[in-house]
This record gives sequence, C-alpha cells and structure tokens, in this order.
Amino acid sequence: MARDPRYDILFEPVQIGPVTTKNRFYQVPHCNGMGHQYPSSWVEMRRIKAEGGWGVINTEEVEISHTSELSPTPEGRLWDDRDIPLLARMADAVHNYGALAGIEPAHLGGGASNNYSREIPMGVSARPIDLLEPVQTRAMDKADIKAFRKMHVDAARRCKQAGYDIVYLYCGHDMTTFAHFLSRRNDRTDEYGGSLENRVRLIREVLQDTKEVIGDTCAVAIRFGVDELKGPAGLTSGGEGRDVVELLADLPDLWDVNISDWSKDSATSRFELEGFQDSYVKFVKQVTQKPVVGVGRYTSPDAMVSLIKSGQLDLIGAARPSIADPFLPNKIDEGRVEDIRECIGCNICVTGDFLATPMRCTQNPTMGEEWRRGWHPERIAPKKRDESVLVIGAGPSGLEASRALAQRGLSVTLAEATTKLGGRVANESQLPGLSQWKRVTDYREYQISQMANVQVFFDSKLTAEDVMEVGADHVVIATGSTWARHGIGRHNHLPIPATTGSTVLTPDEIMAGTIPEGPVIVFDDDHYYMGGILAEKLRGYGLDVTYVTPVADVSHWTHNTMEQVRIQTRLMQLGVKIVPLHNLAKIHSDHVDLTCIYTEQVKTLPCSAVVMVTMRDAKDDLYHSLTRRLGGPLASVTRIGDCYSPGTIAAAIYSGHRYARELGEPICDGVPFRRELPALATD
Ligand code: ADP
Ligand code: SF4
Repeated sequence: MARDPRYDILFEPVQIGPVTTKNRFYQVPHCNGMGHQYPSSWVEMRRIKAEGGWGVINTEEVEISHTSELSPTPEGRLWDDRDIPLLARMADAVHNYGALAGIEPAHLGGGASNNYSREIPMGVSARPIDLLEPVQTRAMDKADIKAFRKMHVDAARRCKQAGYDIVYLYCGHDMTTFAHFLSRRNDRTDEYGGSLENRVRLIREVLQDTKEVIGDTCAVAIRFGVDELKGPAGLTSGGEGRDVVELLADLPDLWDVNISDWSKDSATSRFELEGFQDSYVKFVKQVTQKPVVGVGRYTSPDAMVSLIKSGQLDLIGAARPSIADPFLPNKIDEGRVEDIRECIGCNICVTGDFLATPMRCTQNPTMGEEWRRGWHPERIAPKKRDESVLVIGAGPSGLEASRALAQRGLSVTLAEATTKLGGRVANESQLPGLSQWKRVTDYREYQISQMANVQVFFDSKLTAEDVMEVGADHVVIATGSTWARHGIGRHNHLPIPATTGSTVLTPDEIMAGTIPEGPVIVFDDDHYYMGGILAEKLRGYGLDVTYVTPVADVSHWTHNTMEQVRIQTRLMQLGVKIVPLHNLAKIHSDHVDLTCIYTEQVKTLPCSAVVMVTMRDAKDDLYHSLTRRLGGPLASVTRIGDCYSPGTIAAAIYSGHRYARELGEPICDGVPFRRELPALATD
C-alpha cells in the first residue's frame, strides 16, 4: 500500500549541521540493559530499528572514562580506543539502511559511584553522590575541568573514528556533570558557578571544543531537560531553562529537549498521556534556528504531523515507541498505520536498566531477543507442516500465540470463555490510569481480524471433552490465573488465619465490581502495581482505605518502572492511610491484627474487609485433565502465560510468542539462545 500523503512531511529530510537525516523519525538515546555487557544483542537491536525505517538511531549514554562509570548497570562504554570497534559495529549496521548513527558520550559526576574502577568520582562540588551509596564526589578544580574537557574531546574524536554522524553533549536528566553544573546545586564560587552564564560556561566550552575537532563531518547535539518540574527550586521552561537555550541558541547543531529527571521524562501512561512534554518544550524552536527534537511517547502519525506543522518540532523523538515497534516508520511509509504496535507506557523496558539485564517490552516480545534468539519483530519462519492448533483463552498469551501461529501459516482456533478478548488486560485496563494497556489487545485483535486462518469463538468455556471433540493437532492452554484469597506470599508461607464472619476479597472480585463496606484494608505482599492501584480505586468510592505492606514503601517493585514515588504520593494525596513494615497476622470480622516485621509487636486496625494482594494461582485444571489424554490424534498440550506461571503481561506475551516460534522446530536440550561469553585475556 502507498503512504497516505498526509504523512509525507514526516519523510522529509532534515539537515543537522553537516549531516542530513532521511526522515523525521528520530530514535533518541535510550538505555537498554545491554550496553557493553551484551554488545552483540545491542548492535542487533539497534540495527533492527534502522531496518524499520528510523532516520536516526542513537546509542544510550556512553561512559567516556573509567573515572565515571555506572557498574553494574551496563551502559555504553568508550573509555579508550579499545572500545571503538564495538561502537563502530553499531554505526556500520545503522548506515547500511541509510540511517544516521548518533552517540551520547556521558560523564556522570555525582550520578556515578564507580563501583568497578574504585576511582573517587568528581563533580561540580563535594557532595554525597545521588545514589544511596556511601560515596561522595570531590569538587572539580581547574585541573579537573581541563581534564574533563580533554575527556570529551578524546571521546568525540573516537566517536568520529567509530563512524558516528551525531555526537551529543548530555546535559539532561539531572544525571550528568553538565546537568549538575547547570543546576541550582552548583554552589561554586569560581567562573563556573553563580550566574547562569557561569553555570553554562563548561557546556559552551565543550561544545566549542567538540565542534572544533569533529564539527566538519559530525553534527554536535545537546540533550537538555528544559524543566526540572521543581518550580523555582530548579530550571523551568519559563525561567532558567529557557535562558539556557537562549544563551546557547545556535551553537549546537541540534537541540534534543525534554523534561528532567529521567522518571519525569519517561513517565508512564498511568501518570502522563501522549504529548505530555509539549507545553514545556514548545518554546525551544522560537529561540533557536537549529533543528529541535522532542519526545512524548508519540505513536500517532497525525499527532506527529501536527507537531511539525505547528512549528513545535522538526524531528519526532521516540525511545519507547521505537522499542514497542521498531518498524513504526516503515509502517507509516507503507500505508499500514493500523499495524503499528503502540507502546502502552508501562515501563517494563526501563526495568532492564535497573535490573542490569537486556530490556524486554510488553508489546514487543522480540525486544532483547533479536540476536540471541534471532527473533525479528516482523518476520517469523513459516510453518514446517500443515497442522491445526487450538488455543484456549484469549488473554495476552493466548492472543499473541494465536497471532504469531497464524503468521506462520498454521490453522488456529481460539476459544474464549467470555464475550471479550484480552483476559486480564480487559479487566486491568479499567483500573485508574491503565486505559492505554488496552493496546495489548487492540493490536492483536486487529491483526487476528486480518488473517483468514484464525477463527475466534466466544462464550466457549471448553472442557477436556470439548477439546477432544475439536480434534486439533496441538492444544495450547492459556487460561490464565486467579488472585488467591489465602494470603500465602512472600512473607507468609502458610495461609493467613481468618475467623468466621471475616470478609476477604480478591483483586479479581474488586475488578469485577464488588465494592466492600468500609473501612477496608489492602494487604500488599505482591509489591507490583495491583495493591497500590486497588487502594486508589477503592478510595475513589469514598471508602476509608488503609494500605498495609510488609516492606517499606508502596508498590515497591515499581522503583524499577520509575513510578514508585508517584504512586505513593498519589495514595497519600487521596487520603489512603499507609502502614508499611507490617505483616497481616490474623483477620477478624471487624478488625485485623498486624505485626511489626522487626519486633512482632501487634497492633489492631478496625476494618470490615481485607483485599488480599499476595499471589495468583494458575488456572491449570484443564491442562492436567488433558495431559492424561495425550497420544492418538492429540500431539501436544502446552501451558503458556499465567496458566503456566503467573507473571507480568510482558511475560505472558513472550510466552505465547515463544510457543508459536518453537512449535514444530527442533527441541534444543541445551541453552536455547546464543550467549555473549566473556573472553579470557591473552596478555
Ligand atoms: P494470560 O495472561 O496468560 O494471557 P489471562 O488470565 O489474561 O491469561 O487470560 C486467560 C483467558 O482465558 C481469559 O480470557 C479467560 O476468560 C479464558 N479462559 C479461562 N478458562 C477457559 C476455558 N476453559 N475455555 C476458554 N477460555 C478460558
Ligand atoms: Fe512501551 Fe511498555 Fe514496551 Fe516500554 S515495555 S516500550 S513502555 S510497551
């Protein structure tokens, strides 16, 4: 199909200093949990995006010195010439598709603890580092500033040597030395502190240095958070944030602008909608003649066009939309907008950085698997044999398995007990702030609707007899899970005692519309989003809600999605009472006994119902009754997703995808993916 002419403007070239991008699709730098630790995975992930049509592909932050390193988090690394070949591999891969390669050299200052190198970090002033580690920075003196400038110049030369077209100065996210010099934390009394002109000085100098050494062939970009969302205590887009852009105006070749810090820039859809940064960054183009790139989790080409036409941006920046769909530009180009796999704004991708493992994506199960499993986000090997598959359950795992099996050409029957697709996503997307999660279903529902070899049956709660009657060659059980009432979890290995007359509800019941009589206790021993979000939902009914958890904070695991602070703040602002560091010992009809996790001191709280958020039980009865009938016409029965083991939606989709990829393929009895093995030194 041909491209809709409305979107032609997105495919116009844009000159950035001495280089020109073929279109306006700009993958901004983003972390990925791969970096220097998993370099082959890293190159292939970026290559695929170039194949998918992005005009510019950037690295993540790339450490420019062993004196400022982020171990154990695997970022890019450019400590000396020996790192050049790896970085060059990515630039070459990207160039093969006519895309530009960008790189973001970074010196982290008080954002790094140097756990590996054991060097004392240096920063704008002598302070504890930003991480909760027993390390302080020493203040940079004049010799350090000279050395810092040299580090950047050396890094720039190496970037050019590695073949990069765009080289950054990373002044954003309150995470780098540049950002710290700019910020109000800069309390220096020399010519690098005090007035904004002074605080900008180091950036100006390095910009000039960099342009001098590589500016003939490379564009020099600046990444800058125009607003720190701290009001007068920080940079604001109406105040010093704007002043910085005015001071540097046309010195860089490109302004890559956002808001700061990273958690605010990469806000989840629970808290911010598409385009949430527009009001902060729209002034930038009025101040500079140079091209401007901005982000806002854009997946809609119409929104992108209006950003360009209204003169707000020249380039559409994307990190998460490019992770969820590396082929987004090509799909727009080919008139296949409906095929875009839209980011849901959940930040599972971000967890890869915090957990120092290759990132994964809820919407894109191939993310992080491009090299090690050879998975392509758009292509899949055709079936080996004509076989039929019955998929039972249309939650994320069943939907993805059906979609991918059908893509392979297999004949698929999808049976769903209810009248709707989506399983848990259909329910969870009704929770406060999670409406965009419905995109998990929307994408797959549309894809399946376009394929003649998938038949969907609703109102079809299948029994083992029903399954045998269908007579499929392979049966996939994707029947999901249910939240447990017993209370067993991380802190209670036996059921929590409940007296007669007490009321214990499950998240499934609350999501199905049960409204308990208040006061209600939400007991969260699950620690992801469900406990916190149910407290918010119940409080929305006007109930007296107390959130109890054995750990120190609300929805603890969401530190990894950068939501924790916002979740806890929201609950507190809504008037949800929070009782941290307490276990639920016993449930009575009108109160509960809580025990301090340190002293075991008991305190009682009045309540008429407890919502138990501790674990889920797999719904695998059907699976077990079918395994007894294996043989004959039924070749295989397989559990996938939450029915196999309850986990994240990302895990369920991955599970369904993997099943579809592996059906009929040789079984591997070793490690089923390629590994990046460290090599022994030869010197
Ligand atoms: P997952 O996350 O693994 O995809 P979900 O819980 O989201 O699991 O989805 C499971 C789906 O399976 C739900 O839509 C549910 O209605 C459906 N289901 C459960 N049991 C049966 C059954 N026996 N026959 C058909 N569908 C079923
Ligand atoms: Fe978007 Fe979630 Fe995928 Fe990240 S993990 S790209 S937020 S869908």
